[in-house]
Amino acid sequence: MDYNQYFSAALGRLHDERRYRVFADLERIAGRFPHATWHSPSGPRNVVIWCSNDYLGMGQHPKVVGAMVETATRVGTGAGGTRNIAGTHHPLVQLEAELADLHGKEAALLFTSGYVSNQTGIATLAKLIPDCLILSDALNHNSMIEGVRQSGCERQIWRHNDLAHLEQLLIAAGPNRPKLIACESLYSMDGDVAPLAAICDLAERYNAMTYVDEVHAVGMYGPRGGGIAERDGVMHRIDILEGTLAKAFGCLGGYIAAKGEIIDAVRSYAPGFIFTTALPPPICSAATAAIKHLKSSSWERERHQDRAARVKAILNAAGLPVMDNDTHIVPLFVGDPEKCKQASDLLLEEHGIYIQPINYPTVAKGTERLRITPSPYHDDGLIDRLAEALLQVWERLGLALHKKAMAAE
Ligand code: PMP
Repeated sequence: MDYNQYFSAALGRLHDERRYRVFADLERIAGRFPHATWHSPSGPRNVVIWCSNDYLGMGQHPKVVGAMVETATRVGTGAGGTRNIAGTHHPLVQLEAELADLHGKEAALLFTSGYVSNQTGIATLAKLIPDCLILSDALNHNSMIEGVRQSGCERQIWRHNDLAHLEQLLIAAGPNRPKLIACESLYSMDGDVAPLAAICDLAERYNAMTYVDEVHAVGMYGPRGGGIAERDGVMHRIDILEGTLAKAFGCLGGYIAAKGEIIDAVRSYAPGFIFTTALPPPICSAATAAIKHLKSSSWERERHQDRAARVKAILNAAGLPVMDNDTHIVPLFVGDPEKCKQASDLLLEEHGIYIQPINYPTVAKGTERLRITPSPYHDDGLIDRLAEALLQVWERLGLALHKKAMAAE
């Protein structure tokens, strides 16, 4: 039997749909973010990265890099096993305490990624609640969807950020049925924000638990970087907050924070925690350094917002179709997978600007886009160069200028 035929057919389908993905071979230059070396087919080239989720550049911060090196030198690299088998390294304990404090919760629990936190966290929580109904926002991330699926619980989907629809489902479920409302605080592809206070109102009125993914908000919003929930003053009203160490904190790993008993139960039952090696201690020390720094320094947050606002203003003034939102995400509408890929290729090859195309299934078909993520380190000159390059690419590919044109299509 030629098993290979199945894989080449699967890849062929992606090529036919013009959404086969290619990753550029990049090497960031610490101390010089967002500059990087692109190992292109014709040799190394300098490029500027405009699509990193190391939103605040903490991955190059001397305190963060220093903490990682110091811990690696002192205690070595890996964790040496699952926590059940090999115990817990002190840097993990310190990091969990830091995270619990960040979110004003009794405890926090680390996982090897934000993806695993959602997948195993939601599945385990919901399974432990008899007859739990999960109410999931329509635009929830794949990791939450997988967690919901794995829980085996009944799931109902509420239209994205539609409180009236959520309320209808809560009423229909009745006051006595256990319910878990699952949503994100900041949706990473459109950059829109969930009405967390109103969701908490509904949860309290109808007796539901709340699980909020703050992956694209921790470190960046709230006076200490506690996320949108901290900014909106509702951290204490959300039962389980989930976050990542891989974006604003510049490292790797994920976590949930909640009441002690909830954390203890997930720790005791979640397969995605029990059966996998713990995070490396040096990563945990680096993440702790990033969180500590961002609790007291607001320079990165303010500069980040300032840069995002400037990019939006300049691209909008140039007539480029920026999709509106009030956050740091700058989605530029393309609406076609092939053009999206071509735009990305032209930016990289001809302008030394790296922006990965965003195609289905990351976003819905027909809403393909370039997702631009400014950082505190993108200066005015880089922003101007970005706008000029985009305009040239838009013209070259015959793409529509201004979002009014896009809405009319
Ligand atoms: N939640 C959301 C909303 C995400 O966008 C992502 C990944 N980008 C994750 C969870 C997974 O986080 P991580 O990258 O730490 O696995």
